[in-house]
Amino acid sequence: MRYGETGFNLEIDLTRGNVERVETDPKLTELHLGGLGTNTKILWDRVPPEREPFSPDNPLIFSSGLLCGTPATGANRTIVSTISPQTLLMGYSMMGGFWAPELKYAGYDKVIFRGKSPDLVYVWIHNDKVEIRDASHLKGKGAVETAELIKQELKDPNIQVAAIGLAGENRVYTASIEQGRSSASRLGVGAVMGDKGIKAIAVRGTKDINLARPAEFIGLCNDVLKYIKLREEHPVPGVMTILQGLGSPQEMKHFDEEWHTQNFMWGNARTRRKDFWNKEVEQKWRETQETVRTRLISCYNCPMKCGAIISVPGISTYMMKCFSKLTYTMAAYSDLDFGFKIAQRATEYGVDGFSTPQIMAFAFELKEAGILTDADFEGCPSDNEGKFYWLLDRIVRREGIGDILADGTHWAAQKIGKGAEEYAHNNIKKHEQLPLKLGMLNPVYFLMYATGEKINITQIEGQFPQSPFPTVEEREDFCKDWIQVPDEKFKKYLMDWEMRGERSNPYYPTVDMSVDIVDWQEMMHYIDDALGVCAGLSSFPLKPPYHIHNYPHLISSATGIDMDEEGLRQIYKRNRTFLRAFNVRRGLRRADEKPPEDHWKKRFPELEEKLLDAYYKFKGWNNDGIPTKETLQELDLGYVAEDFEKRGIIKNGQD
Ligand code: SF4
Repeated sequence: MRYGETGFNLEIDLTRGNVERVETDPKLTELHLGGLGTNTKILWDRVPPEREPFSPDNPLIFSSGLLCGTPATGANRTIVSTISPQTLLMGYSMMGGFWAPELKYAGYDKVIFRGKSPDLVYVWIHNDKVEIRDASHLKGKGAVETAELIKQELKDPNIQVAAIGLAGENRVYTASIEQGRSSASRLGVGAVMGDKGIKAIAVRGTKDINLARPAEFIGLCNDVLKYIKLREEHPVPGVMTILQGLGSPQEMKHFDEEWHTQNFMWGNARTRRKDFWNKEVEQKWRETQETVRTRLISCYNCPMKCGAIISVPGISTYMMKCFSKLTYTMAAYSDLDFGFKIAQRATEYGVDGFSTPQIMAFAFELKEAGILTDADFEGCPSDNEGKFYWLLDRIVRREGIGDILADGTHWAAQKIGKGAEEYAHNNIKKHEQLPLKLGMLNPVYFLMYATGEKINITQIEGQFPQSPFPTVEEREDFCKDWIQVPDEKFKKYLMDWEMRGERSNPYYPTVDMSVDIVDWQEMMHYIDDALGVCAGLSSFPLKPPYHIHNYPHLISSATGIDMDEEGLRQIYKRNRTFLRAFNVRRGLRRADEKPPEDHWKKRFPELEEKLLDAYYKFKGWNNDGIPTKETLQELDLGYVAEDFEKRGIIKNGQD
């Protein structure tokens, strides 16, 4: 019997219309857990490096995580993996909501698509019955609208639907997959779904998931819930409001946007408005938010309520969470009211709320600079907000200049030429990053940002504070109940970290300490992404309920796999290195690990090189970021080393 996981994947060949239920190898679960870990293995086995994102043979994987659907709080992530049209590397984007647990209840751990459907279809998974159905009547419909129409058609409001909007149908590189209470937005996974001709995947399941030692597991889950309650009652003092609690940044609950609006950049990630926030703005924005926010909502089996149902009079309701509340507003130098309105249209279109506003602001900056001309914007209204609606429509429909912009700022700049590359200045690995420009380089943040492959804000934050506490008392206070640390040395790192002087950024934490901290942060991200646990309860916030000390017990009691901290670390190392190896085979090298030049005002090129050197060495990778043969063999990835040797990526065990 399989525990925690169902032990079956659905393999769907869209070209031939063939559906197969395939038993999976339990050995792979022991090696990689599930979710992102086993997705990487599937992609490695099936995707040679020359394969294009829009090839019929580029698989699109919807995976639950190993703990999804069990009573573990927040174990609800769907991990969507494919080759990203934007970065041309492995794209993996996560969504919360209810979809992954429902898939497990239907009896599957993953759905793996290959091929392309000649006509637009949706897939209906209802326990053992799986159908590929005509979706011609859903063509051009919004993502949220599509979900509603499918639920009506199948006469069951409890069906969970992951759908694309028009952006996905038109292969816009920043197309998202929307799922009612969440979305998989980064890295263009919605474009690949549209390219395959899949409008939506509807799931309903009524089966059980087996647990190896249910009483023990549920006891541990109750401890997690108790800890969440404790943390809710005792927010972390001395840090920004959004870092005090758990979950995604609680943007739907908070009204105070002083920090975001004054520190994040506006427009095309160039302008900081230090004097923007005042009492009048605060009052106005509070009223706006209170008016449109119908109620707060959670993902499956979670009490955190990070999202909200947004209902703007005159337009249909949608879900919003996190920083997308501000992205459109700030890109257009506009008001929160505008942000809530345009986000509704963008959600129905199904586009990434981080990249898309930046693409639009980039286009208008190019126009101001004379690189794009009036002819490119023929028919564009002159008012600020109207301009953004107009351009969003063009991008999603791939009309005129919108067709070029739909590929994101990196590829659009290459096509436009005439110096447009200078304006696509906020990218890393060809992808738009958070429009944040800071003063002094923070070595930990530099490494997370440079080397991360998730291209997501959560990859750069974690269980170690982002900045030092001003006083020794505050540091002691923070350390006293810091149970999450994998090793006591991290408390010393924090205790000695000063705001100014020798023991401050950028030279403190030291290079070696920074690498240690990053390794811890990454470890938690990779474990979460394999288990399907929300980062908001583990790898993202300070002092979360899940950590390296309780995860092994949770995994053991749920799955029956014999697991201790050392074993879990080894899986993390394997999964992290494997994903790196996959991207290395597709050409990723040290030269790509470059945060935008103006991300920090004060840069330290020599230190940055030292940080990368030390990080690679710590990981057992060579100086170009390529895992060595020895490292791969130690991690049971000898076949990856052999492949590297065959391709000349490593020679005689070296680089
Ligand atoms: S913490 Fe927030 S985002 Fe995470 S599962 Fe819970 S409600 Fe969803």
